[in-house]
Parts: sequence; C-alpha cells; structure tokens
Amino acid sequence: MAQQHTEQQLDFVDDVTDAEAREAAHRERGTARPITVVGNPVLHRECKDVTAFDDSLVALVDDMFASQRAAEGVGLAANQIGVDLKVFVYDCADDDDVRHVGALCNPVPVELPADRRRLDDSNEGCLSVPGAYMELARPDYAIVRGQDLQGNPIVVQGTGYFARCLQHETDHLYGRLYIDRLSKRDRKDVLRQMAEATPKFETVPND
Ligand code: ZN
Repeated sequence: MAQQHTEQQLDFVDDVTDAEAREAAHRERGTARPITVVGNPVLHRECKDVTAFDDSLVALVDDMFASQRAAEGVGLAANQIGVDLKVFVYDCADDDDVRHVGALCNPVPVELPADRRRLDDSNEGCLSVPGAYMELARPDYAIVRGQDLQGNPIVVQGTGYFARCLQHETDHLYGRLYIDRLSKRDRKDVLRQMAEATPKFETVPND
C-alpha cells in the first residue's frame, strides 16, 4: 500500500484556489445520501479501483460533496455512502488554517522522508462512527498520490488536521476505519460513545 518516496520533486495539486466556489458547485449539483456506519460490510473491505473517469464519476463526487456538507464532515469516502469505488472528497483546513477542497481517486500513500515523520495525537472522529471521538497518533504531514476526476495523475499533500484527513480517507478505501487503529480499550470506549449518541444526520441502518 505504501510506496517508496522518491527524491525527485513532487508536483503537488493546487486544491486551494477557488476552494469555496468549487465546493459549492459540486454540492449544489449533488444530492445528500445517508451515511453508512461501522458494521456495514462496504466499510470493511477494500473498494474497487476507479477505471471509468466519466460523467457518472462526477455525479458521484457531486453527491459526496452534498453528503459531506449535510453531515458536516471534512472528508468523505465513497463507501461511506455505500459506493464500492476508490474515491474520496475533502473540504478541510490545514495547519495554517488554509482550506483545501478536492477529490482523489485511487489514492496511494507516499512514504514520508524520515525528517517529516512527526506524530500528532489529536482527536479523530468519523461520520461512520457518529458521535464518537478518540485521540489517535498519526503523522502530521501526508502525501497521497492518485488521480483526478479526468484520470490525470495528481499528488496531494497536507499538514495538521488535513494530513490526518488524507490518511483517514485513504484508510477508508482500503476497508479500514480509524477505530481499527485504536487499542482494544479505546475502541470499546468509542463504540460505547457511538451507542449513546444520536447521529445529527441520516445514516443507513445495519441489519
Ligand atoms: Zn471516516
């Protein structure tokens, strides 16, 4: 899943320019869908690669932006609205409070250079584990390669909370939730928090 970081200069995508307008355009074309929650099989297996970069992919991403906004999320993976495809969207601020908006298909984490591997143990939450939060140590910098909605290769980098978001959403598409990275005790605590909370958005019932 991780690939070797190369010394060559990476050309990072610009996901900052017109962030507000781009997010609004997607969201207004899309329809919010209910969110799948922990226990739904679609969240616990690796999604299929995106191979068709067509209008239906754009329509899916529009719905994902609408769903993300309705649920007040900062990132959303396709399997969180029940779609088995490797694509996620994000609308998230970085360490400098700069807003990043984008969509990434077929994400692959890039291994960080040793001097950029510093752990941050902030709280993390997930729309698919509604009402629960837990500290989780993750690198405070992330680089993810993938493709844009036209299939062009792109590289996204993030710091701070946005780095956490990129790692969290990439994990989703490989069938991994943040609670899978917690200790047994913390995982149990999170599931208890979730059981005691009422989601503020529509979810897909598990049965
Ligand atoms: Zn999540």
